[in-house]
Amino acid sequence: LGKKLIVKVSEIPEEGLFFEIRRERETLKWGREEISFDGPIRGWITIKLMGEKLMVEGEVQAVLLLTCSRCLEEFPYEIKTAFKDEYLPLRILEEEEDEVRLSKAQLEISFYQDEIDIEDFYMEKLYLALPMKPLCDPECKGLCPICGVNMNYTLCKCASQIKDPRWEPLALLKEKLLKH
Ligand SMILES: [Zn+2]
Ligand SMILES: [Zn+2]
Repeated sequence: LGKKLIVKVSEIPEEGLFFEIRRERETLKWGREEISFDGPIRGWITIKLMGEKLMVEGEVQAVLLLTCSRCLEEFPYEIKTAFKDEYLPLRILEEEEDEVRLSKAQLEISFYQDEIDIEDFYMEKLYLALPMKPLCDPECKGLCPICGVNMNYTLCKCASQIKDPRWEPLALLKEKLLKH
């Protein structure tokens, strides 16, 4: 299953192509990290040419094992994403280069080359659906900054010993009042 799924645009039939996605677990590169999958990646993709425009539509879903940014515990995160994209041949961009006719709007269009890597395509969709700051739970209490325990499971006494900056103005006021 390690082989790449490459489609030559010139060989796409008029009725388009349909692919079922089902890949066993592997890893997804995320910056310097490698994220593991918990179970297979599933979904489907259709590719169709409408004149020169390439239409790519589909759905992909997977469960990834992410690390919570607060408590650093690993947790399963489900991604289910649907997409419908249009691409223009890269050639168009090359032809127009000399004339510098490309408006900003045009630069937001994606382009395709002679070949498309189906796997790269849906892996990128999963990548784009990853949360910037993963949380095992929106209410995750995180790690104690003093002793390092996971505050979701253990209650330590550190909190009562540190000065809460939110109370500082009140403490200053108290000090002032006591001086008089
Ligand atoms: Zn957490
Ligand atoms: Zn603590």
